Amino acid sequence: MTMREGYAQYLADAEALAQKRYGKYFIRQGRRYVAPFRIYGNVWYVGDNWVCVHLIDTGDGLLLLDAGNCGAEASLLSAIAEAGFRPSDVRWIVLSHGHMDHFGASEFFRDAFGTQVLLGAPDAQMLREQPERTLIHHTGSAAVTLPTVDRELADGETVRFGGTEVMFRLVPGHMDGCVAAFFDAHGELGVKRCGWYGGFGFNTLEKNYLLELGDTSFSRRAIYLESLAKVRDEHVDIFLGNHPHNNDTLGRMRRMLEHPDAPNPFLDPDAWGAYLDKKREKLLEFMADPKNN
Ligand SMILES: [Zn+2]
Repeated sequence: MTMREGYAQYLADAEALAQKRYGKYFIRQGRRYVAPFRIYGNVWYVGDNWVCVHLIDTGDGLLLLDAGNCGAEASLLSAIAEAGFRPSDVRWIVLSHGHMDHFGASEFFRDAFGTQVLLGAPDAQMLREQPERTLIHHTGSAAVTLPTVDRELADGETVRFGGTEVMFRLVPGHMDGCVAAFFDAHGELGVKRCGWYGGFGFNTLEKNYLLELGDTSFSRRAIYLESLAKVRDEHVDIFLGNHPHNNDTLGRMRRMLEHPDAPNPFLDPDAWGAYLDKKREKLLEFMADPKNN
């Protein structure tokens, strides 16, 4: 291949990436950068404007909830540093589920800093047996790698990370290995309970997707509803998003920055239940829609 042919191939690949369903999310990711901010006490937001990443300062090492989009390593490292932490102090990453927009920097942290990576057991199995379900091919880069998992999480287990104890529930639906996490944050108003639900999208409940998996009865939709019900009544003072639109992360951030003396908008004990109820209603509508059946 000549240099000119090689460049033509590059242009064709770039155009093909832009046309992929999720392709636009891998182009010029610096434009998605969000300056990090403290949500409450020892819990920080270090994600971008598309995918959430939360940092918990456990007092004995940093814990990340998710690792950002594939290709967003530089953004995540910058956000952690801008928040005043050292990326090399990230001892653990818990992945909400095994999709390419959540495990982005996990292998980088593992390789560079020896960070331990945790993922729900069903998605660890998925990585071994059906890695195409990660949608890694949408990144348009053969240099992107699947995550390595150090520990597989089971339903109901509690794991201690430094000074923070996290209770995990498996909430299959969006993916089979989605995890929800519940833990205490410590701040100026005392202990507040945080809740994180690892994956809400219906893209993996679409008819053709489920048929490809052999789920001809679309059982994953009913499983999703069961998962919502399973954790609906957990007490949650601070609902942490999986994507910022889940809990209007960036709107709450703006209100907090504009009105620093007003009550913290992230302290909202109704937000968790209200959003899970909304997803339940939306999924029932989705299931009733003839085009999805
Ligand atoms: Zn996902």
